Amino acid sequence: MLNNPIVRALITVFKWFPVVFISAVVIWSYYAFVVQLCVLEIKSECEKAMYLIFYHFFFVMFAWSYYQCLFTNAARIPDRFHLPPEQVAQIDSALSIRNYDSAKTLLESFGRNLPVYTRGFNGGTVFFHIRYCEKCKAIKPDRAHHCSVCERCIVKMDHHWINNCVCFNNYKFFILFLAYAMLYCLYISLTDLQYFIKFWKDQLTEGSAKFHILFLFFISTMFMISLCTLFSYHIYLTLTNRTTIESYRPPVFSGGPDKNGWSLGGWANFTEIFGDRKLLWFLPIFSGKGDGSGYPSNSARNTLPVTADPQTDIEALSSPSLKSNGHGHSFPIRVAEEDRDDLLRRSQWSEEGAGDENPVVNFSYASSSLRIENERRPHNSLF
Ligand SMILES: [Zn+2]
Ligand SMILES: [Zn+2]
Repeated sequence: MLNNPIVRALITVFKWFPVVFISAVVIWSYYAFVVQLCVLEIKSECEKAMYLIFYHFFFVMFAWSYYQCLFTNAARIPDRFHLPPEQVAQIDSALSIRNYDSAKTLLESFGRNLPVYTRGFNGGTVFFHIRYCEKCKAIKPDRAHHCSVCERCIVKMDHHWINNCVCFNNYKFFILFLAYAMLYCLYISLTDLQYFIKFWKDQLTEGSAKFHILFLFFISTMFMISLCTLFSYHIYLTLTNRTTIESYRPPVFSGGPDKNGWSLGGWANFTEIFGDRKLLWFLPIFSGKGDGSGYPSNSARNTLPVTADPQTDIEALSSPSLKSNGHGHSFPIRVAEEDRDDLLRRSQWSEEGAGDENPVVNFSYASSSLRIENERRPHNSLF
């Protein structure tokens, strides 16, 4: 049914409906504020000029961020994570006859040189298993997920939003969009407030302007409150270095699930997304660090490659020269005594995610059974 061109056209139209709706509200707010409030209602030329100058600043920044969110292509996983056709054929052949050991060996062989540290989820004992996307024929980089709407793996996927994935290369734009949209609404609410009060005192000029002023206040205040909640949540995620997906299902490292596994401290987490150049923090221009396929972690137990041999791993943890791999740089790692103990002690943990229409195959290092990773994630949400 999804292959039917009419159905696909209808889905495309439906996907763009939120964009059209938000754009219509913004265009109306522009008309109501600029024409009805500033031009027709405000009598003071000075007040009118000040209102319009600041309004257009917020409007431009908001529209720019919104555009960048919608039309920045979601980051693809780098080519080096894609398996060559001959290896894909071998894996498909092995899977077709349920020879999972062979498929697992092929994947581990290919993934040995990749900076992959997180494991997939399953419901039983887990030692090491590599995350492989059967649809993209690729090993999934840390924090990457397959988006069923975009129909491909997305680097550091946060969630699917309207017609695009919010991910590694546009997450900053998304936060700025929330911030400027919130400020835009706040500005309209505050400037419109005195005229809103005049409406109830029946002191406004007769005509349609008074109703635009009334609804302008209601709608901007309503949006401002909901945007404030969402913006606060994403600032919290930024400062803790979590994606929306990771906030309810922590990444799994060699030592087990660790919701703070990518957190390097509030400031470092912030600059990982916003970069070090302060001027660029406020502009919807990419300024983050790395290419999205590798991330430094805060703990030695989180930096054992997914394909590494368990015995070698334990020895490697003792090495003072151990480095984490992220952003193309080497990062010194704390090798804490408790990290080593925890690695040796923790051999199993429970599944925390369940239910998904988009299964991804995982190959357990310790078990020859084929496991299906259930990746639960939000998509198609308005924000
Ligand atoms: Zn994929
Ligand atoms: Zn998507």
